[in-house]
Amino acid sequence: MSEQVLAIDIGGTKIAVALVDDAGTITAEVVRPTVPSLDPDEVFAPAAAAVLEVLTARTPSARPLRVGIGSAGPVDGPAGTISPVNIPAWRGFPIVRRVAETLAPALAVPPLVGLAGDGHCFALGEHWLGAGRDLDSMVGLVLSTGVGGGAVLDNRLFAGTTGNAVHLGHISVNAWGPRCVCGGHGCVEMYARGPALVAAARQRGWRGGPDARALTADARAGDSTALEVIDVGMRALAAGIATTATELDVRAFVLGGGVSRAGEVIFGPLRRHLRDFAVLDYVRDLEVRPAVLENAGLLGAAALAFTLQV
Ligand SMILES: [Zn+2]
Repeated sequence: MSEQVLAIDIGGTKIAVALVDDAGTITAEVVRPTVPSLDPDEVFAPAAAAVLEVLTARTPSARPLRVGIGSAGPVDGPAGTISPVNIPAWRGFPIVRRVAETLAPALAVPPLVGLAGDGHCFALGEHWLGAGRDLDSMVGLVLSTGVGGGAVLDNRLFAGTTGNAVHLGHISVNAWGPRCVCGGHGCVEMYARGPALVAAARQRGWRGGPDARALTADARAGDSTALEVIDVGMRALAAGIATTATELDVRAFVLGGGVSRAGEVIFGPLRRHLRDFAVLDYVRDLEVRPAVLENAGLLGAAALAFTLQV
């Protein structure tokens, strides 16, 4: 029997917990909506219950259970704490300690628990079982209500000092641009994230709606305003990707997230603008692949667990 790890994927709308074996097969899974409470313990209680429920399906093992947690950011990897923007009850929440404490009474030996941001877990998942499984090095990017990312370099997650490396949404692509929510100026996210595309279209008189999915549908149907704002957004994203590729010397990117699912209407302008920024020899002809997994974050949390050493 192959080893099973416990994977936990924490998002603003749902928390998923699964047992995953070393082939990437999910052998048990529980998904719970994220409780919209301001009490940290009320938000944690259903997650703890889900962890214990999934654990009952585990094949008994004498080895320590390895647990990977992927969470919406920001995260503090060394401290084991998370402060997800969309979960206001959790600011500096000690998720690693709380999960370990939840599991301890049910296990013969203490578990090993690792933590990474959701962008990092997305990259780990696509690298392990998805669009990047043939690659030694790649950057995973999530384009949805924000722009997140993570890098796998030489088959290892590049976490960074605090676990937030390759925060591509907050690379500045316009030093004279407006102030971003992060405090910087002209960040990628201000132009490329789904709500920014919609806001830009509204400013130009677009009446469709309500969201980026509707906008990309209109673009596919040939709406000139939708095509224009997507072109601007993808130019910003292309500049951010080219910057990251130039810094890390990585040639392959895997792009996922809700907005990317619109397909060619996103990938077409993105690849076209990349030719304008990725111009040095070693990054020319960058590859941007569509993500293929539905649950890359959860599987990436499992991949993270498999890297934990006793
Ligand atoms: Zn920013």
